Amino acid sequence: MPELPEVETIRRDLTTRIVGRTVVEAWVSPDAARLVQGEAAELFCRRLAGLTIEELGRRGKYLLLRLDGGLTWIVHLRMTGGLIHALDGCSDDRFLRARFRLDDGSELCYVDLRKLGMMWLVGDESEVVGKLGPEPLGEAFGPQELRRALAKRSAPVKAVLMDQRAIAGIGNIYADEVLFEARIHPRKAARRLSRVAAERLHWAVRKVLVEALGDRGSSFRDYVDAEGEQGMHQLRVKVFRRSGEPCYVCGTPIKRIKVGGRSTHYCPKCQR
Ligand SMILES: [Zn+2]
Repeated sequence: MPELPEVETIRRDLTTRIVGRTVVEAWVSPDAARLVQGEAAELFCRRLAGLTIEELGRRGKYLLLRLDGGLTWIVHLRMTGGLIHALDGCSDDRFLRARFRLDDGSELCYVDLRKLGMMWLVGDESEVVGKLGPEPLGEAFGPQELRRALAKRSAPVKAVLMDQRAIAGIGNIYADEVLFEARIHPRKAARRLSRVAAERLHWAVRKVLVEALGDRGSSFRDYVDAEGEQGMHQLRVKVFRRSGEPCYVCGTPIKRIKVGGRSTHYCPKCQR
């Protein structure tokens, strides 16, 4: 699933490619019934046509395409969604769920194997992203903010890291990587982390996300960037999907357990 580094990579790529372009025609496949939220797909397409993309923003895993006239087109890729900019138009893909023709003849192509992705066209972004927690790479996110998000939560620290209302943008891949980097056991109760451990966790969140961004995200399965290319960070993960392989630090085999229903990878020696 695309997480913060993947969505931010798409945002940066699309910024250079589509800012200033006007949507001339929008089409949503009839088989993508849940793609458009809050209104009929037909109406969404009609409202979008004629609007110019002024700026691309991001909140957590949500991509925000800000349009003239004060509307924002919000996209959440969920599990298998992808937003690819094709200069020659979208290619014939059986997972193509929507296409958006721009005024220079190029197209934005929305592909989604499992059809879980969602789009909105809203005047008030907070209707969709208003309940998200702080941006982990934002300047306002310090160790104190992280401690506040963890305090009083008896849930495992991994579950809190993935709770979008606590911190925005972290999913299963980076939660495992962050906890390894911080040397914290994924099942440890969030509220029981010491101040020092919380500070280490804050440092690890930033380090892991910045490194993954530098690698243009991770492509374990479906993720591709706005040009249809894979990220590179899957080659540099330390624990995610490495169960049975030796820990790079101590050589102990990486273990896989379930935390909050999600597959979780950690080193039983380094993360106690
Ligand atoms: Zn280890």
